[in-house]
Amino acid sequence: MKNVIDIQGLTKRYGKLLALDHVNLSVSEGSIFGLIGPDGAGKSTLYHILATLLSPDDGSATVAGLDVVKEHKKLRAEIGYMPEKFSLYPDLTVRENLHFFASLFGVDVNKNFDLTAPIFDQLKKFPDRKAGALSGGMKQKLALGCALIHRPKVLLMDEPTTGVDAVSRSEFWEMLSTLKEKGITILVSTSYMDEAQRCEHIALINKGRILDVDTPVRLVDGMDKNLYNASSKEMYPLLEALRTLPEVKECYTFGSTLHVVTNNGFNPDDAVKELRQKGLEDALIWPAKGNIEDLFIKLAKDDG
Ligand code: ADP
Repeated sequence: MKNVIDIQGLTKRYGKLLALDHVNLSVSEGSIFGLIGPDGAGKSTLYHILATLLSPDDGSATVAGLDVVKEHKKLRAEIGYMPEKFSLYPDLTVRENLHFFASLFGVDVNKNFDLTAPIFDQLKKFPDRKAGALSGGMKQKLALGCALIHRPKVLLMDEPTTGVDAVSRSEFWEMLSTLKEKGITILVSTSYMDEAQRCEHIALINKGRILDVDTPVRLVDGMDKNLYNASSKEMYPLLEALRTLPEVKECYTFGSTLHVVTNNGFNPDDAVKELRQKGLEDALIWPAKGNIEDLFIKLAKDDG
């Protein structure tokens, strides 16, 4: 399948800080590709370059076959960009925002109705409400509708659902699936595990570097296989005891339990016996489901 985004050795510095460090990435046509990394990883910088708002210092990138630097003007018609911060005019109504974005791209609001109708359908109850007065989920739906008004080939979305309630997030992702079926390629960053699992591929990014690209099944399930919860009334002695076990790679506080990352040789029953021998009579260990925080901890460790 053809690559719609092709990034080679992309590098960006802010003074001495290397925000992107020789990033290589390919995204195939009509796919939903997830970008996951902690704050400061370089995601927004990458989006700014792909959206032609920032020039790289080194390397190159093409989106929809167009170079982000040399062909930036042409490229703008091919991309829909949803920045991390709310990008619409809060004092304009829903209808006015739509007309404004349509006029920017010289298209009629109704032209790409097949793409935008399912989104606007949810907004039609309040055409005259100011964008700033919409709920978080509705704001993001309006932003998505505006980003699609010129029928872009590629959607670039920087954490579009951060802070949005779970139902709206789910509806938002239903819309992304529909857009994908219409052939639109989507690059989306997220800090929600359930969303990461809806992508076809995920790139893990930290400190400006891509550390891994794989299917969510392999990245997440691979992590869950060797991830456990541990608890005891005496959490700190438990943490210390677990860290001395040779099969334990990482152990950290996670909400009201500890998360324990192990190697394949770890046997939870043996570990519990050993902990009890050390006086932690109530120690319990059971399988855990990996969270995005676990991925970030893994990223930081792999990087260290
Ligand atoms: P993310 O979107 O993953 O949080 P960013 O791309 O915003 O990451 O930032 C990557 C790094 O570059 C961070 O260390 C950030 O502080 C730094 N950075 C981002 N924008 C600027 C800027 N305009 N000037 C200086 N440093 C910046």
